[in-house]
Amino acid sequence: MQNFLSQKFQGIFSRLTGKHQLTEKNISQAVQEVREAFLEADVSYPVVKVLIDSIKEKALGKKVLGAIKPGQQFIKAVHDELVSFMGSDPAPLNLSADLPVFLVCGLQGSGKTTFVAKLARFLKKSGEVKKPLLLACDLQRPAAVEQLKVLGEQIGVTVFSIDGEKDPRVVAKKGLEFAKNGNHDLVIADTAGRLHIDEALMTELKEMKGLLKPDEILFVANATFGQDAVRTAEAFQKELGITGSVLTMLDGNTRGGAALSIRHMTGKPLKFEGVGERVEDLQPFNPKSMADRILGMGDTINLVRKAEEHFDKASMEDMEKKILDASFTYADLSNQFKMMKKMGSLKGLLGMLPGMGNLDLGDLDERKFLHLEAMILSMTNDERNGRVELTMSRRKRIAKGSGTHLDDMNRLVKMYGQAKEFFKKGPNMKHLQKLMGGTKAWL
Ligand code: GDP
Repeated sequence: MQNFLSQKFQGIFSRLTGKHQLTEKNISQAVQEVREAFLEADVSYPVVKVLIDSIKEKALGKKVLGAIKPGQQFIKAVHDELVSFMGSDPAPLNLSADLPVFLVCGLQGSGKTTFVAKLARFLKKSGEVKKPLLLACDLQRPAAVEQLKVLGEQIGVTVFSIDGEKDPRVVAKKGLEFAKNGNHDLVIADTAGRLHIDEALMTELKEMKGLLKPDEILFVANATFGQDAVRTAEAFQKELGITGSVLTMLDGNTRGGAALSIRHMTGKPLKFEGVGERVEDLQPFNPKSMADRILGMGDTINLVRKAEEHFDKASMEDMEKKILDASFTYADLSNQFKMMKKMGSLKGLLGMLPGMGNLDLGDLDERKFLHLEAMILSMTNDERNGRVELTMSRRKRIAKGSGTHLDDMNRLVKMYGQAKEFFKKGPNMKHLQKLMGGTKAWL
């Protein structure tokens, strides 16, 4: 997503890099360019003004420090400002009640129903709740109840609905009783949306709020709608009172304006972001990660988070042991490729590395990844299990047997070394970056 803004920023920063000093003149020019970039990214004018004023103050107020280049100092000032503007720290959900209730609202097509399931999956996976219940109270969109049931089944979470019921208040009331009697530890209610805000929608939501007494009211906004999404969020905040927002479709064609503005305009934090259609495509909103992405610095926070999620502790320990007693093999490496693939598309993962966001990854052929597995399969048992050294003649034979080239084999051997390093040290950024860099050489 924020490719648009990050490309603009890379240009602005690189023009500053050659300068020896931050002067009022070159700062003013850079600030002017930053202002234009924000406006083009569909950030509303009042928000741009606030942002620019404080960036200017920060950038100008500082002396150029000897060891730091002026460009870097300006980037830091912009980065710091973006982070604090978006709330500094991730905003937690309020799960303190015995039976917390979350109400999810937004316009139709914003990704509400999908988010309800994504959130339940996320909280279950992180261990924060064990037995959530989803309430199917969107009786406006004909397919919403069915959609929630399908998603619920997919993630192993119960969905409460009443066939033929037309009144969402009845579903809410009975659903709440069902949750209490069934020892559920969280209720997430999907609600009806409309194409536009209207009185009927707000009345229904206010009644739902009165009935459910929610601990969180999460407004779901489609990030591709830019300022429109922000205006809708403001209206929901004013009419209903929300506790936070969720941005969806951040994987789509968005210029990033909504992510920047929504907290400032509603006064409530962004709590989550949807980055794809699948139930696993949800991540907590983190102001630092968003600022990194906006400025084209990759997304190391979410990359490490994903690595921690998919390379679970037990398998990391298993790998560490294998490395320590020198029994990490090519067969293990092959398993690791499979795990990495589970983290998401390679293109997506590579795009999260610093400096990669602006590269054209369009021509990467993910199928080439299969060559790695073909080579490992072409090895003898002794080779695959690291019992013999992969001499040149062996490498040539394996390359031939797998329909690849000697170069490919050499790269595989190098990657094996990088993977060993990665598992020895845990999923920290430096080693992950090396491993991914090695992976990129493949594609
Ligand atoms: P609702 O009307 O607000 O309940 O919206 P839905 O949950 O039905 O979502 C509308 C469409 O957007 C569906 O096809 C979803 O699969 C899709 N969707 C939801 N969230 C995301 C997201 O973060 N990224 C992408 N690309 N698609 C999403």
